[in-house]
Amino acid sequence: MRVGIGYDSHKFSEGRPLILAGVKVPYEKGLAGFSDADVITHAIIDALLGAAALGSIGRFFPAEEKYKDAYSISLLKETKQLLDDKGLQVVNIDATVILEEPRLDTYWSQMNENISSALGIEASAVNIKAKTNEKMGFVGRKEGIAAIAAVLLRGPQKVPTSKQGNLLGYGRNG
Ligand SMILES: [Zn+2]
Repeated sequence: MRVGIGYDSHKFSEGRPLILAGVKVPYEKGLAGFSDADVITHAIIDALLGAAALGSIGRFFPAEEKYKDAYSISLLKETKQLLDDKGLQVVNIDATVILEEPRLDTYWSQMNENISSALGIEASAVNIKAKTNEKMGFVGRKEGIAAIAAVLLRGPQKVPTSKQGNLLGYGRNG
């Protein structure tokens, strides 16, 4: 098992759509960023890459023309491919988005569907929730949105070393 953590934040900007976990959420502003600035999906991608010891999101999805206004759920699908290549599977994801506005109550199931289907995992393996920041700091002043995510990965199976083998009851002679 491998654990990973991811954090992201983006500031609000006029004239941009607000995309959170792949859902276009109606609001007076969106988030500024090179891609679609999907703060939840970015935190999840960083957590997945971290758990896989693959560095961070900027390594695979740099601010290049190819990723301009990219739909981050597509980047999540590319991240899944990186995990597949290492023989790693997602056990579960827990994410918190920290914002004062807007309320997201009606979007949880669609967000869950977007994340879980991009990764090919059960909906029950994904949890996304929201907190306000009690009006403190940049989130509290409604300057932007932050997100944090934790993930657990399984695999790849390793051949037990002789010591582990003994502990597991393998590799004994007679
Ligand atoms: Zn981001």
